[in-house]
Amino acid sequence: MTHPFDLSAALNERRAQHRYRQRLEQQAPVGREAQIDGRRLLNFCGNDYLGLANHPEIIAAFKRAADEFGVGSGSSHLVCGHSRFHHALEEQLADFCGQPRALLFSTGYMANLGVIQALVGKQDAVFEDRLNHASLIDGGLASGARFRRYLHNDAVSLESALQGSSARRKLVVSDGVFSMDGDVAPLAELAQVCERQQAWLMIDDAHGFGVLGHEGGGCVAAQNMQQQVPVLVGTLGKAFGTFGAFVVGSDDLIETMIQFARPYIYTTALPPAVAAASLASLQLLKKDHWRREKLSELVARFRQGAAQKGFQLMDSATPIQPLMIGADKDALALSQRLREQGFLISAIRPPTVAEGTARLRITLSAAHHAEDVDRLIEAL
Ligand code: PMP
Repeated sequence: MTHPFDLSAALNERRAQHRYRQRLEQQAPVGREAQIDGRRLLNFCGNDYLGLANHPEIIAAFKRAADEFGVGSGSSHLVCGHSRFHHALEEQLADFCGQPRALLFSTGYMANLGVIQALVGKQDAVFEDRLNHASLIDGGLASGARFRRYLHNDAVSLESALQGSSARRKLVVSDGVFSMDGDVAPLAELAQVCERQQAWLMIDDAHGFGVLGHEGGGCVAAQNMQQQVPVLVGTLGKAFGTFGAFVVGSDDLIETMIQFARPYIYTTALPPAVAAASLASLQLLKKDHWRREKLSELVARFRQGAAQKGFQLMDSATPIQPLMIGADKDALALSQRLREQGFLISAIRPPTVAEGTARLRITLSAAHHAEDVDRLIEAL
């Protein structure tokens, strides 16, 4: 009999399924290019959509704050780790989103766990889009609320699930821009259903902030839905190019998080210098409209070029432009072939995506040049 802690069987099974995950060791800052094993590759799989992660002004803000405040925050926010940089960032993020308050979390994963768990519990129910990010699914499952999934972006499916529920609180949760598909949630439809069914709507717009909306306010701003989305989460590690996450909403919502969200309370605050870097990033993100304009030109160029070659594109107008492959083995082989040709594009496989829907998750960034996109299409 094998020992109960014989871990090799599961690892071997994962290998046999072509689902084994491996880290790549980056030898230089990752931006338009990446450097791995001494080779420079054009990078088409990051989330630095606006090309801000290596921006000199953001790096300078980070350094200045580290000189002044050191590296570690030294404590959680509620003990003594809440600095003036954190506070200023919260105020500016609230203002940016047109909401009374904002609260920083150390990561988006923790924000999603914390927010859901602080809002719903045993007597309640949570309704999630089938394609929601893992952190939202985990948050829903960990909350202890009754957990239901509805069909992707389908307000009718959501409404029928809500109608059958006698839960005290009903929380509807969706990605804003879907992380592995690139499509956008139909906020107006979801909000109407929520209003009819007395549910609350929570949107995680990790991939929309910075990219969508005139000033980068994300899908909620782009669809003018600020009044209909009482719980909005954003992350700072993607278009902002820094690290961390935030939730915005009413004063009561934020106070509820401060009192009850365990992943907020029981963890060390972000380094103040990271908050200072995010403050600098927010200024650039709002004012550098050219980044969003360039990005949407690159997206259009990619879609047009790929369509001309006969590729089946997904229904996405965002910088997430996945190419559906199907079998895990094929997606992996393609990613490998592309690497040999000088492109870094990861193969996304189950359980991150559904069985039989392995894909190349191609992402575009304002740091790319038009010729990079043309080269990619030729290589594909
Ligand atoms: N939400 C979504 C939709 C995401 O794609 C991600 C990151 N992949 C997260 C949350 C988690 O954010 P973070 O990386 O800051 O933990």
